[in-house]
Amino acid sequence: MIPDSFKQDLLNRVDIVDVVSRYVQLKKGGANYLGLCPFHGEKTPSFTVSPAKQFYHCFGCGVHGNAIGFVMAYAALGYIDAIKELAASVGMQVPESRPATPAEAARKERETDLYAVMEKAMEFYRAELKKSPKAIDYLKGRGLTGEIAARFRIGYAPDDWQGLKGVFPEYEDKALVECGLVIENEGKRYDRFRDRIMFPILNQRGSVIGFGGRVLDDGEPKYLNSPETPLFEKGREVYGLVQAREGIHGSGLALVVEGYMDVVALAQFDVGYAVATLGTATTPVHVNKLLRLADELVFSFDGDAAGKKAAWRALEVSLPLAQDNKPVKFLFLPDGEDPDTYIRKHGKESFERLVRDAQTLSEYLLDELRSQSNLATAEGRSQFLAAAKPHLQKIAAPALKLQVLKEAARLSGLTQDEASLLLAPEIAKPAHRQPAPAKKPFTAPSTPEWKLLSYVVARPALAGEIDTSVIDMSLPESQALKALADHFLADSGGAGAHEAASSAMLVEDFQNSPHAEILFAAQANTMDLADTEEHARLQVQHALWKIEINRKNSFIKALGEKLRQGKLSKEEHLQYGQMITEVKALERRLQTEGRAGAR
Ligand SMILES: [Zn+2]
Repeated sequence: MIPDSFKQDLLNRVDIVDVVSRYVQLKKGGANYLGLCPFHGEKTPSFTVSPAKQFYHCFGCGVHGNAIGFVMAYAALGYIDAIKELAASVGMQVPESRPATPAEAARKERETDLYAVMEKAMEFYRAELKKSPKAIDYLKGRGLTGEIAARFRIGYAPDDWQGLKGVFPEYEDKALVECGLVIENEGKRYDRFRDRIMFPILNQRGSVIGFGGRVLDDGEPKYLNSPETPLFEKGREVYGLVQAREGIHGSGLALVVEGYMDVVALAQFDVGYAVATLGTATTPVHVNKLLRLADELVFSFDGDAAGKKAAWRALEVSLPLAQDNKPVKFLFLPDGEDPDTYIRKHGKESFERLVRDAQTLSEYLLDELRSQSNLATAEGRSQFLAAAKPHLQKIAAPALKLQVLKEAARLSGLTQDEASLLLAPEIAKPAHRQPAPAKKPFTAPSTPEWKLLSYVVARPALAGEIDTSVIDMSLPESQALKALADHFLADSGGAGAHEAASSAMLVEDFQNSPHAEILFAAQANTMDLADTEEHARLQVQHALWKIEINRKNSFIKALGEKLRQGKLSKEEHLQYGQMITEVKALERRLQTEGRAGAR
């Protein structure tokens, strides 16, 4: 846990304009900076960064966040890693909120050791490659230049049972086994990787966490990976991400292929946006990680039975994660081909055409299901619908879901309404949390409560001055205001009161709250607001009067109804008249002061 005070310090210290400018070209426009949104494709800039308020908002796709959020989304880093990276950029050291237990400290130290071991092994394999004409010939034979081999830090594990002894004189060290470099069997120790081309697997920060080894001849197994170790979890990592990051940003596209050689061969042909899963089925972590970086995800699979099975698995994982503005597609290469062989035979242009024409997730899903049922019969069509149902229910992206529903209805000879009746009852609940912020456009309510919320969001210090008891709590904007006021009151005792009120910190504190969407919309709404505290206070007062007027008016309406029915008591009669007078007075005051305030 990183203490809140540190996050406040950090958000005060970094400048979001600097942070974003490292990745996105920004131009000054009024009080804010504008650029092309890196999170959705656009031709005119709607990505807005506020230097005064230290947050960004895209008026195109709705992404919203502070500097920490930007680094997380753009660099696909976890929360802690994003904070660490930002802290490092301004020379701050992230504190541990409590001292590590001896066991944790030992584990951490151990991990540091293991990273060093892996790094050393990689350098050893790289040096061995230079010494091995056989390995060099092999790579040349596959069309790879020295430059690409260096970029992917490719090496060679010599044909030697204890080759690593050359670089680790303490071959008995248990770290070698822990890293998966050495195998211990009945008291004997030997290198896991022998006579193999070595592909280091890097984590997002570029540290070596594992290796993939490929045989040079027809030996078995053709590919051998590091086992799971304290550093390496296959379901979380993809091969080649560090090298592909730039290519993914440039093209907006991430291509997932099956093998290391595919990634490397594609890079050799200047297709720089490919990564590979590491001998495991696609996991949600993989998909989320890549969808954070790319606008479009294309899975490429071999056309054989194993490839088709892996593709179906990737489809199932992607259903809840695909987004309407971030499509997931499937590319099946001709039988017997993989990206490596294909691009060498047909070249970059032809390969990229295949990528462009890849099947959409919905096409692939419905084609597969259709092929399993005979749509010429009523029973076949029912079977098709039954098979489609669980998949349809998993789709979280609303437009995609509707499209699939429509198409499924068409194929089964039903109207969309009929298909909805059959398929939709359980559709409403989202299957998964979306990996990125919700993309549906937010419609601002036209209530005075919304206006009030906007002003308070822009100047959170005002939250403490508002009596929330008069507000209609059934409105979501009122509930958000209440939460904001409570939050501010709880914080204002501490020394960090001022910081707690900052817009960037507000993003931090509310990003996981049920009020996040409306609060962030209110922030975006007041992005250009540069008025004085005095004026803001006046606006808040006016909004409160309007709320009071609305409240009294609904009361007057109820009493008026009673009056018409002749059921009004004497007391109520008095009240009725008094209220009408009060409302008139408030309206007059609002009019005069409103005019004065506008001047
Ligand atoms: Zn956007």
